[in-house]
Amino acid sequence: MEREERTLTGVGVSEGIAIAPAFIIEHGEIAIEAENIDESQIDDEIERFRRAVTKSRDQLLRIQAGVAKTMGDASAAILEPQIMLMSDVAVVDETEAVIANNLLSAETAFDKVISRGIEALEAAENSLMAERSNDFMDVRRRVLANLMGMSHHIIRDVSDEHILVIQHLAPSETAQLFHNKFVGLALEMGGTTSHVAIMTRTMEIPCVLGVDGVTEAIDNGETVIIDGTNGKVVVSPSDETLAEYVNKKAAQLERKRNLAKFKGQKARTLDGKHISVAGNMELPGEAETVANYGAEGVGLFRTELLYTRTTNLPGEEEQAEIYSEVARSLAPNSIIIRTFDIGGDKFSEILGAPFEPNPFLGWRAIRIGLDRPRVLKTQLRAILRAAKDNNIKIMFPMISNIDEVIRAKELIEESKTELDSEGIPRAERIETGIMVEIPSAALMAREIAGEVDFFSIGTNDLVQYTLAVDRGNQRVSHLYQSFNPAVLRLIKATIDAAHLHGIWCGLCGEMAADPTATIMLIGMGIDELSMNPPTIPLIKGIIRAVDSRVAHSIAEECLRLTKHSQVVDFLNRKNRELLPPEFFDE
Ligand code: PEP
Ligand code: MG
Repeated sequence: MEREERTLTGVGVSEGIAIAPAFIIEHGEIAIEAENIDESQIDDEIERFRRAVTKSRDQLLRIQAGVAKTMGDASAAILEPQIMLMSDVAVVDETEAVIANNLLSAETAFDKVISRGIEALEAAENSLMAERSNDFMDVRRRVLANLMGMSHHIIRDVSDEHILVIQHLAPSETAQLFHNKFVGLALEMGGTTSHVAIMTRTMEIPCVLGVDGVTEAIDNGETVIIDGTNGKVVVSPSDETLAEYVNKKAAQLERKRNLAKFKGQKARTLDGKHISVAGNMELPGEAETVANYGAEGVGLFRTELLYTRTTNLPGEEEQAEIYSEVARSLAPNSIIIRTFDIGGDKFSEILGAPFEPNPFLGWRAIRIGLDRPRVLKTQLRAILRAAKDNNIKIMFPMISNIDEVIRAKELIEESKTELDSEGIPRAERIETGIMVEIPSAALMAREIAGEVDFFSIGTNDLVQYTLAVDRGNQRVSHLYQSFNPAVLRLIKATIDAAHLHGIWCGLCGEMAADPTATIMLIGMGIDELSMNPPTIPLIKGIIRAVDSRVAHSIAEECLRLTKHSQVVDFLNRKNRELLPPEFFDE
């Protein structure tokens, strides 16, 4: 039966409109397709299954030890049933029997066995049993994920265009949407600067996050409209609504076409001040997109996905190859490679990261690199090698004090010495900068500026840490205020400190792509804005439409205001006054 039109709301994080049937994945379930094997493969499949079980048990034990340490033995005991399941004869032996007798792949056989258990528990209509079925489901996900490797396809390819509806996506899973047929995305999880949000913007997939109960509210195959600009998900639209959105989509495309003329133009203000406009990227394949949108290089190459996509740490050779290729495709412009920023929501198991109750305040980024210098040096050596014949700079993330900067620079020097002693060619000198994304670094920017060649302000984290608001948590997203005066003052202090020391200061957080902020940032003296490539033409257009002296007085006024809402209202008014109407998306 045809269902009625419904509108669900969330936060629009990647603009544009997409219209297609829904493809629903419940509870981040891993979809697997039945796979037969022949007799010669039985032993290998059983061996693969045993390895996945061992790995799953080890992971659970590690998580349990972490929980015990931080939250006590009683909390850790919660994981006991799952650990026991990993040696449960009814699960393990039975799966092996199904592989051998039914000639099924390890994934298919295990799924069959564990799903039978889940069904039996769910049928029991007893809350204790229902709870137990959650353990079974967790174990199912974990073992299947391990069987399929770290890059397991939670997101499998679809043959026709669909809207993906799911509760939660990890960055490594979002990467699977690249070159896939999903044209839009609706998620239950939230956060405008979460990595899902950032990546969908680069991929130009309209996306709405923070939609409560989205996987239950939509049926598989129902027509869905994603309005990523206004944060709406319209389900089973009436003919009238559908026509309205088809028109809107055409108007948005028209606006995009109009802005495209700025791609190849220089980003110079009316009075001739040049602001570099660069692109952010995280998958090597995105270099082409960055170039196509007219970026003057890459202001932020996030390298975490190299570490979260595979089961092995990426090698020096492999990395050097990737960095060289990206740099070559953007030459003569420079690319800034940020050393791995693993941790937070970019979890990687290959470094054996322990379970942490506060991952955003924990073992993350440069902290991991300095604790595991060998891993960081592998990346630094790769960068130094690639920088020999290419325009490459290094940037360190999550710097919280000057000691970290000094130590990180020492590691660069040590890497150079190592390469020299091995006779491997490398760059003589490499420009080195840091992300200013922790308030302590912004407050100490004057001192740190003496140690580096440039700063790049990471507003995504700077806002999170200044205001103590988790950037991925929908419940507190109203408190995630990028224009809070406390944040603005830290940005201004960082830019001033850089200039005092004669170094340049860029900004590569999502604020760089927010047209509301552009004039204010020009007025504060920012030298470079690095952003998701599709926004580059618009931001270039804005830069070309303002006088930096007017922008300066606007920035001064922003810094005098006391409330986030006052700054936003003031900037919206000024933007309307100074910019042509076609710059605004209605
Ligand atoms: C930032 O924090 O603003 C930033 C650019 O880094 P990431 O979003 O990768 O944390
Ligand atoms: Mg950051």
